[in-house]
Amino acid sequence: MGQVTSEQVVKGNGAGPNGQSSATVKSYAPATGELLGEAPNMGPDEVRAIVARAKRAQEAWGALSIEERCERVLRFRDAIVDRADEIIDLLSRECGKPRHEALLHEVMVVADIATFFTKVAPQALAPREVPLHLMKHRRSFLHYGPRGVIGVISPWNYPFQLPLRDVLLAVIAGNAAVLKPSEVTPLIALKAKEVWDGAGLPEDVFQVVTGYGPTGAALIDAGIQLCVFTGGVSTGKRVAAACGERLIPCVMELGGKAPLIACADADIERTAQAIVFGGFSNAGQVCISVERVYAHKQVHDRILDRAVEITRGLRQGDPSKDFVDVGAIIFPHQIDVAEKHIKDALEKGATLKVGGKRRKGEGQFFEPTILAGCSHDMTVMTQEIFGPVVPFMQVDSEDEAIRLANESHLGLNAYVFTADRDRGHRLAERVQAGSVLVNDVLSNGGTAETPFGGIKQSGFGRVLGEDSLREMCDVRHISTDRVRMTGKDPLWYPYSETSYKWFKKGLRALFSSGNILRRIGDMF
Ligand code: NAD
Repeated sequence: MGQVTSEQVVKGNGAGPNGQSSATVKSYAPATGELLGEAPNMGPDEVRAIVARAKRAQEAWGALSIEERCERVLRFRDAIVDRADEIIDLLSRECGKPRHEALLHEVMVVADIATFFTKVAPQALAPREVPLHLMKHRRSFLHYGPRGVIGVISPWNYPFQLPLRDVLLAVIAGNAAVLKPSEVTPLIALKAKEVWDGAGLPEDVFQVVTGYGPTGAALIDAGIQLCVFTGGVSTGKRVAAACGERLIPCVMELGGKAPLIACADADIERTAQAIVFGGFSNAGQVCISVERVYAHKQVHDRILDRAVEITRGLRQGDPSKDFVDVGAIIFPHQIDVAEKHIKDALEKGATLKVGGKRRKGEGQFFEPTILAGCSHDMTVMTQEIFGPVVPFMQVDSEDEAIRLANESHLGLNAYVFTADRDRGHRLAERVQAGSVLVNDVLSNGGTAETPFGGIKQSGFGRVLGEDSLREMCDVRHISTDRVRMTGKDPLWYPYSETSYKWFKKGLRALFSSGNILRRIGDMF
């Protein structure tokens, strides 16, 4: 037992605590500092062997019908629901998150994703005919087949939901999946694997490789066919480059700096409540957290005062012991980051309205914090914080709010609050983000039907939505003749001056403006 320190958490460099090479990854409870357990720090040979096993297992799994695979995935879902208590308990201890959030934002979302995608997969992945507008004598069909082994590399903030979302999509589509969880939360990934095995599903179809950054790098190099990466922008760039070297496609789910725009007619109570929930859920360690507020001058003060009041009433503490609202911060470095941005803001003239301090004593806690009088000169408004800090900025108009919201290198989620939902919709269309919610926060992380992902440096590719299921597949185009063809095609050899003239006339007849019958008549 003992308090984990910044130095002990060495992320992404392959070394263990204090930089020495380590045979294990240690997992500590952020709310208490207690050592919860260890997992192997796997090297390239082990990872390669696991991917090879996954490849072999995928052949039988991919040969099952979609319905058979879905039936097995539902067994996994049922086992998750049956064992929800132990999963929630581990999530609240290893990740330091409130039990409500472990239930609603992790276990329930995974159960819903399994339910939704097993329902839609048979139709979404069925072969479909694509009507051809020109070559009417042929028929084209699209077939969706598994790619092989999908590598999933994931972060610590939703250590159950995010990786299992990608794993479920992969296996429903007929692939095997190998998951590299964050080095900070390996135990919950191993728990998911234990539940999978316990439900009687083929063990090698879903496997977990634990370790630091180099274990993730080894996974990319081990013969996978697609990498689904969720994590920070700088790691994402390294992962995308490694995938590019090997010509492996990748999906990049990276950081965010979600703006919340409060219009002059915004409902004060709902907007303030949304800011507090959207800013402090999971202690602000959410890629789609409310990370900056642009409030119209007519409502700014009232929303700010109410948000501060609600924040003062939040209960923070060890979520494995009590029903608290806000849990712990995953490791001390995240607190250092929050403090750095707050210090910069205060030095440049911002006002601290509530919070702003780390808690003394056991565990890593940082008070939910609201800053007012912020501007884009402050890093708190422009860089991802990933902690419980919400900066406010007053604006004179909606145009100003949209301009500032778009003045960012990130574009994952954004929020617009207004009494007029149609105007909200129109404003949302002008915001540069992968998802924009009107009068709501965070909820799109749990809508299985809609694509989730970012633009700009928040990444590319999408998870969730039916298209993401097809993204897990190789698409094959099969083209057949519509009528029985004999002899040679008119477009084949030999080329002659006469055929060239006819094709040239065809160009004008087919691809110019005006009446089609006149264009055909002009050919003769
Ligand atoms: P991170 O980038 O430090 O790590 C993510 C994963 O990448 C970990 O498993 C890590 O071990 C692995 N990794 C590190 N170096 C690697 C390498 N060279 N090759 C392969 N894998 C490597 O991110 P984090 O601190 O765990 O998570 C926080 C970040 O994740 C935040 O920026 C947050 O916004 C982002 N995030 C994004 C989404 C989204 O959906 N867009 C969701 C959650 C979190």
